[in-house]
Amino acid sequence: MIEQSILEITSALSVAKNIVIVPHKGPDGDAIGSCLGLYHFLKEKKHEVKVIAPNDFPQFLKWLPGSEDVLIYENEVDYCTTLIDAAEIVFTLDFNVLARTGAMEEPLRASDAIFIMIDHHPEPSDYANHTYSDATMSSTCQMVFKFLQKLRAVKHISPEIATCLYTGIMTDTGSFRYRSTSSETHRVIAELIDKGADNTRIHQQVFDTFSQNRMQLLGVALQNLRVNNELRTAYITLSQEELDKNNFRKGDTEGFVNYGLSLEGIIFAAIFIEHKKEGIIKISFRSKGNFSVNAFSRAHFSGGGHLNAAGGKSELSLENTVTKFNAVLPEYKEELSL
Ligand code: 5GP
Ligand code: MN
Repeated sequence: MIEQSILEITSALSVAKNIVIVPHKGPDGDAIGSCLGLYHFLKEKKHEVKVIAPNDFPQFLKWLPGSEDVLIYENEVDYCTTLIDAAEIVFTLDFNVLARTGAMEEPLRASDAIFIMIDHHPEPSDYANHTYSDATMSSTCQMVFKFLQKLRAVKHISPEIATCLYTGIMTDTGSFRYRSTSSETHRVIAELIDKGADNTRIHQQVFDTFSQNRMQLLGVALQNLRVNNELRTAYITLSQEELDKNNFRKGDTEGFVNYGLSLEGIIFAAIFIEHKKEGIIKISFRSKGNFSVNAFSRAHFSGGGHLNAAGGKSELSLENTVTKFNAVLPEYKEELSL
């Protein structure tokens, strides 16, 4: 982000009252953590600030300070649209194209607010007035920390802000193990601990709060695991019936896709989850090394994301989606097989 943008943002912040912060649809730890971190900072600066998420977020994030203040667009369309219309500044966090906000895209496009994007996904589109995009960053939360540094505001980082930013960095780096984790990530984490992030408690709140249903759903998912050793690929399916039987709640399948990558030799993992109501199969892809799941998902499953973590969807049945997946895999034989 260039110095000129920082000057312009500082000046916009000095006069703006109404600010809206938006994460992507299906918000994860990094999306909610970055929005709430920024939210606490701006609230302290006496702005009228609202976080508006396109849809609800997982239970394992509902302990985050300020999470009770997050508005859910699809539950309160009229009120949220009024807030978007009144906003002088809109921060869009953890996504690179407005379409990732689902039904919120329309009111956002109609807004004449100053748009500020902070995001670590590749190929940012150009809807924002100020774009802080860096695909080498571990997480949007790490970028919000750097953004506060650029605003010379690190001294204003409260324990609440530190907790939110720590959480997003932790979830987006798979607890500091993915390639995007740098020495700088650890330096930021160290500062956040110094500012009051309670690392042990945060890990417990996010990872050690499974319901019995969720744990048993994981059992079903692992039973459904299929492995293609030749193409070093593993995938999991979960049907709507299996979700219903285990009392599925939003967020329950978070992290399941990673189990495929825990198998020796596997470098490409996928999970296919049936969403009967929406009529789609939601897919998550993960990889190790240079196999680009971003490119794979863009090419075949109307999605995208990062090199090693991407999402997508399919309007075919669960069975036909898996058939399609298995049919396109051999096209990647050179990259996938040893
Ligand atoms: P997840 O599999 O956890 O839903 O998503 C992994 C990564 O891919 C995240 O960075 C997420 O933002 C991105 N992603 C997930 N679904 C989609 C999608 O439908 N389209 C695009 N472009 N990115 C997605
Ligand atoms: Mn992220």
